[in-house]
Amino acid sequence: MRWSTGRASRSAPALNARLAAGVRAVYRRLDRKIAAFRRRSGLACIPGCGECCRSTGVEATVLELLPLALELCRRGKAEEVLARLDAGQEPERCLLFSEQPLGRFGGHCTAYSRRPLLCRLFGFSSMENREGRPELAACRLLRQADPARAGQAAAMAARGRAAAPLMRDYGLAVYRLDPVLGSGALPVNAALRQALERVGLSLRLGSGSSRQLSSGARLH
Ligand code: SF4
Repeated sequence: MRWSTGRASRSAPALNARLAAGVRAVYRRLDRKIAAFRRRSGLACIPGCGECCRSTGVEATVLELLPLALELCRRGKAEEVLARLDAGQEPERCLLFSEQPLGRFGGHCTAYSRRPLLCRLFGFSSMENREGRPELAACRLLRQADPARAGQAAAMAARGRAAAPLMRDYGLAVYRLDPVLGSGALPVNAALRQALERVGLSLRLGSGSSRQLSSGARLH
């Protein structure tokens, strides 16, 4: 841990806030780029799908989840989320996914605006193939649902990062904010736990009171 005692501990909440602001800025940039790609390609998720959220392979770094951890603390939800993580129900599936329908459709992300990188990128960005050429990180279900549109999107993505965001660019942009917290992707629930613990510990060290953690309402 890069901060622990004395003066450094007092500045830890400020450091977390600064890092989270940096991550949010990368997310905003990426969201604009993805929105433009979606508009031009016509590619869109199948309403109410949620299959990628039901996967057990979603990974993130602690840094990517710092904005969400701060938000959960601010809203007094940190303890509740940690308790749910401790309860360990479906520990491999993202804890933030809810099967409750949102509107007419089933299943939704309960932290959509603070979701990590992979959740933003998947299906709407490109990765470099073995020859170093960009290739759409395509969603199998989208390809099956609308092969023509998916083919058009893949052709666009092949034109380069000006057409579709390149995953690596955004991973690097977050990593550069803090190479320690921004490396070593973990299963999303484990990354969320570490981000919450980091934020909670920094606040506890800053306030000098362990009881501050027990109520999110008192965290800020
Ligand atoms: S963070 Fe949200 S979008 Fe990402 S896997 Fe979890 S529920 Fe799905």
